[in-house]
Amino acid sequence: MNNRRENFLISSIVLIILGAMISLAVNIGMGAVVGLSGIICFVIGMSTPSEMGLSPEAVAAWTPSIERLPDAGRFMYRVDVTMDEPIYSTILCGPCGNLERVEGPKPDEYTCPECNRQLWVNEEE
Ligand SMILES: [Zn+2]
Repeated sequence: MNNRRENFLISSIVLIILGAMISLAVNIGMGAVVGLSGIICFVIGMSTPSEMGLSPEAVAAWTPSIERLPDAGRFMYRVDVTMDEPIYSTILCGPCGNLERVEGPKPDEYTCPECNRQLWVNEEE
């Protein structure tokens, strides 16, 4: 039932990898800061007794952040629309990997029937 420690360890690994990537792609100073926070996270994770750590709310908030695209805060999906008749769209749900085929071009909004996540909605009226 307790995965707080794992959360710390996972975030530390993510941060260390991110740090390495940033130091290669952006600059070494920024990468070092991110990498260091990863190491600190790792140390906290390793030394955290199981009683303390993230609250259940924080754990719940953690999960969707992995599934969402880092910039848009949306679920990942992929839509392929056929070029010729019959027109249909093939929709791949990122979070659950369900592949669905719907008639016609890309719909204005779409909710995955498998996991009930709304993959997109067209905000323009
Ligand atoms: Zn789904």
